[in-house]
Amino acid sequence: MNESPPGPSARSLPPGNFPDRWIHGPSSPAGPPDPPIQVHRYDPATYILRESKGVSFEAPFLYLFFGADRAILFDTGTAADGRRFPLRSTVDALVNDWLVRNPREGYELVVAHTHGHSDHVSGDPQFRGRPLTRIVGRTAEEVHRFFGFSGPTAGPRAFELGGRSLLIFPIPGHHSASIAIYDARTGFLLTGDALLPGRLYVFDMESYRASVDRLVQFAQTHPVRFLMGGHVEMSREHGRDFPLGALYQPGEHPLELAPERLLPLRDALSSVASTRGIHRFDEFVLYNGVGTLTVLSEFRRGRRYNRAWRKGRLSAPETARAPREPPSR
Ligand SMILES: [Zn+2]
Repeated sequence: MNESPPGPSARSLPPGNFPDRWIHGPSSPAGPPDPPIQVHRYDPATYILRESKGVSFEAPFLYLFFGADRAILFDTGTAADGRRFPLRSTVDALVNDWLVRNPREGYELVVAHTHGHSDHVSGDPQFRGRPLTRIVGRTAEEVHRFFGFSGPTAGPRAFELGGRSLLIFPIPGHHSASIAIYDARTGFLLTGDALLPGRLYVFDMESYRASVDRLVQFAQTHPVRFLMGGHVEMSREHGRDFPLGALYQPGEHPLELAPERLLPLRDALSSVASTRGIHRFDEFVLYNGVGTLTVLSEFRRGRRYNRAWRKGRLSAPETARAPREPPSR
């Protein structure tokens, strides 16, 4: 594909940084466990949180953006229990720290979601009853009402944090309530589970293709620095994913993707959109309308992998490539 991102340059945006590595499970079950949440300060007003594999194999990424008037948290992870997964206390501490640096009365927190699947919304109850807090619902209707979308193909709507404006638009296909969030400060375009270095589960192909086309168009007309998804499931080795359910992922692919990576996805879709099944590509694996049985067999692969991990039998090359078998269709 030639006529494509990059769009306007994102190079003039203020710099941020990523950690050398994210927590990705301990090398042995006997080893010291990861903390339940990794908190990474990308820049003084932008935090990326990763849930531990010890809390859930899903190990999703959460995003916390601060503006002058309010902060917004995208996604709440897999667990309502604050003792197992201390999200509320972590976010409260970050908000308090922000307010020490930027004193302000009546500072609001909005809790929203990249989409409504349970590994992204289950921490919501931790925020119930929190003062000055709005929690966005998980259905498409609630999300559209909150952000003011006229429908599933609505164009971007601004959401103001105070001196920091987000552009948000619906990208259904993985989930009916999926949204993309563009932050002009960092140049991040959050794509949730619609695009990430891992397994892309497409439940409504027609909507998903249209959403990817709109993401491409958006990236051609806005300075996007990185596509930021909700999980990492690929290894650094092209085409190799860690199995579903893996509790240890050494040698993970970086979380952030260059905006150009939208193009292989768009091309992949044009070749396999009408073929149900599992389709492997360098940086993602497309699950086109696969059923529960296939997912269960993928889980079996994960259980075998975890058994080898528990017994200390994952050799270094094996861990990098994650035991594989031909994909079932
Ligand atoms: Zn997810």
